[in-house]
Amino acid sequence: MKNRLCVLVVSVLAVAAAACQRTPPERQAILDAADAMGGRQKVLDVRTLTVEGEGDAPNVGQNTMPDGELPNWKVTEFKRTIDLPNHRMRMQQVRVAQFLFANANTQRQDQGLDGDVAFNVGPDGAAMRASESAMKDRRMEMLQHPLVIVRAALEDPATKLSGLRASGNQQIVEVDTGKGEHITLAIDATTKLPSRVTSMSDSANLGDVAIDTAFADYETVGGIKLPKRITTKIDRFPQFDLRISKNTIDADAGTIAAPDNVKSAAVPPNAAPIVVTAEPVAKGIWWLAGSGNHRSVVFEFDDHLVLYEVPLNEARSKAVIDKARSLSPKPLTHVIVSHHHFDHSGGIRVAVAEGLTVITYKDNVPFFKDLLARKHSIVEDELAKKPQAFKVEPVDDAMTLKDKSMEVQLYHLKDNPREGTNLFAYVPKDRILVQADLYDSTWQFHHWGENVITNIEQIRKLKVDKQVPVHGAIEPYAVMVKKIRSAPKE
Ligand SMILES: [Zn+2]
Repeated sequence: MKNRLCVLVVSVLAVAAAACQRTPPERQAILDAADAMGGRQKVLDVRTLTVEGEGDAPNVGQNTMPDGELPNWKVTEFKRTIDLPNHRMRMQQVRVAQFLFANANTQRQDQGLDGDVAFNVGPDGAAMRASESAMKDRRMEMLQHPLVIVRAALEDPATKLSGLRASGNQQIVEVDTGKGEHITLAIDATTKLPSRVTSMSDSANLGDVAIDTAFADYETVGGIKLPKRITTKIDRFPQFDLRISKNTIDADAGTIAAPDNVKSAAVPPNAAPIVVTAEPVAKGIWWLAGSGNHRSVVFEFDDHLVLYEVPLNEARSKAVIDKARSLSPKPLTHVIVSHHHFDHSGGIRVAVAEGLTVITYKDNVPFFKDLLARKHSIVEDELAKKPQAFKVEPVDDAMTLKDKSMEVQLYHLKDNPREGTNLFAYVPKDRILVQADLYDSTWQFHHWGENVITNIEQIRKLKVDKQVPVHGAIEPYAVMVKKIRSAPKE
């Protein structure tokens, strides 16, 4: 009896000890993924990963129509090198615009990350420190690869795993890096290979967005399984489709560390300080310029003010609204939103929160309703804090705003190859054209300039002396026409 009791106690203790040591199911899922990728030790032994290929990078928020196809950057050369033990990454790419673009349509980008230091390398090879938000984006980008995320989950003691669950044929694990990054990792239940990672982020236009990166077409390189296709979406929009021609393990990464002068440099601010100036351009018309290259215009009517353009984001547009209100005791009641492109409609939520009625081309209305209804909980904006009804006056072909003090004619830009929903303004008393994206004095190319001249001179039969822009400088109309007609074609 005594012996039997002893055996029982020992076995209970053994079971208890085994239970304590049993691998948590989340960690087991990561261990299984590492084994499927080629083995835990192999995954931990990798020093560098180099990914080369080509792809497509659509330009979200810049399509001709709000629900139209996105203009695309074709990425003709792509190379990303990751130094895993040192948490460094370098990304070099060449991208070519597949759409009408007003500046050089081939761009080279060279971006680095070294721990918590982000930097950009110019064409002359000089490296410049990048902002904290660029650093955070790149840290997240580095984690959007199965080798990096599985390895972080395997070895980094700061990383916390939780929430294991099944979803269809996927096992889902929540991964918290302990450095403010939260990633939902999906692992294929059959192959045990990572199939996607998802993280939540804030977009000025879209609010809370899921950034979802899918991994496919695994191949074995140096004993490790690596994807040949990596596809990223932001919300419902495709962001990058990378087709990998070559995965390399443990190649010499070269010098991808941040140079000392970059490490010791001050971190530039995430955004330049906002300055809004007000320059009178005619009686009752002000040009709101200042920092950046997105301007607005204020029109003064008998008993109210009307703004043209709430650009970029809440911060810029709120400063513009405040400046407009400082110009006159008359209430600011309306804003004309020139078109739906994200850099031109980024202030629509704050405009509605501030009680302004929106005047815009009719085809923008459903898209703007969607933007106004979206959730902004990650970064709570003014409209999220105090919801307001959307007051809108849709414009079909044209509309005139007129009283004794001011007349502003609004016209839809017709048959333009780039701008499907654009409204420009004309003030007959001063023969002033107010416009966004029709023309910018700093552009290299004016691919759609002839269409703009046709709209003004033939279709609308307007006599313009001066153009007052959202982008670029105020110029005589004759200068604008001359620049459009003398610009290189390509
Ligand atoms: Zn623009």
